[in-house]
Amino acid sequence: MRPASVMLRAMSKTIFQKIIDREIPAQLIYEDNHVVAFNDINPQAPTHVLLVPRKALARVGEATASDKELLGHLLLTAAQLAAQLGLKNGYRLVINNGPDGGESVPHLHCHLLGGRPLGWPPG
Ligand code: AMP
Repeated sequence: MRPASVMLRAMSKTIFQKIIDREIPAQLIYEDNHVVAFNDINPQAPTHVLLVPRKALARVGEATASDKELLGHLLLTAAQLAAQLGLKNGYRLVINNGPDGGESVPHLHCHLLGGRPLGWPPG
């Protein structure tokens, strides 16, 4: 039998960690050593991609100076993907942080939304 600590870690994995670890499927569209990107299961626009760092950082509010490069990489990768996906007319990057921010999965992720005009202010 696996030790309790290993079982507990497995049980507390977020859905995104399970996708990163290939324990559950997702429509992966990009990955490198630091970031994984896949289609959102409940798309809010014709293009709705989630970019998720492999590092299990809960939210941007918990990032530290040591995450500076990772956060930069996340945004640059989002911009690259937007270009590759042909979002010539524009797109929106969203990072929800905490309950009031609308965060539902406590593993940092950046939404890439595009393919239609997006309203402002957001809901
Ligand atoms: P947030 O509300 O910012 O935490 O965003 C979480 C996002 O994850 C939502 O847009 C969900 O639709 C999406 N989501 C949840 N489960 C999955 C999944 N298994 N595969 C892809 N996207 C998911």
